[in-house]
Amino acid sequence: MKPKPPAFLQQFCHPPEPAEEMRYPGMVAPWAVGSGWRATDGRILIGHRRAKLKAQEPAGAVPLVEDLLPNPKKGRWRKWPADPPTSPCLDCSGDGQDCFACGGTGKALYQVNGAWIARRYFLAIRSLPNACCLWRKRPSNARNPVQFRYKGGVGAVMPVVRGGQGNAP
Ligand SMILES: [Zn+2]
Repeated sequence: MKPKPPAFLQQFCHPPEPAEEMRYPGMVAPWAVGSGWRATDGRILIGHRRAKLKAQEPAGAVPLVEDLLPNPKKGRWRKWPADPPTSPCLDCSGDGQDCFACGGTGKALYQVNGAWIARRYFLAIRSLPNACCLWRKRPSNARNPVQFRYKGGVGAVMPVVRGGQGNAP
């Protein structure tokens, strides 16, 4: 029987597309690899372990999917921030009233380790168990995505580049 990916991985995939206009067929669902699962929408990538942690593994063991990340050891892992600085939503000027774009929060981007992350990615990562961010001296940019890990896997997300700021879909 084919294993089914955990349901939470779907939020890291590209939204569904009509079959006749499929532009990203490899991104609309998680896919299995030897050590677990991968999911991406082109801006965020996550690698989730298929197997549960083995009892003899020490806490915080390096995930089997570490090969996903460039230079994962350059930096320090810190708890994913719960309530970091934000930038106001451009659709509602930050008041959040009846705003679909920001879900009524008035917030569009969240700052993590000097990089701005779109709201939906920030919240998706924050919802992972024991989510951590790789804190580095240099802020992340287009070449160095924000790296995260959690109990079960690792991942990376592209920050929003300044000047191109807006509400990511
Ligand atoms: Zn808004």
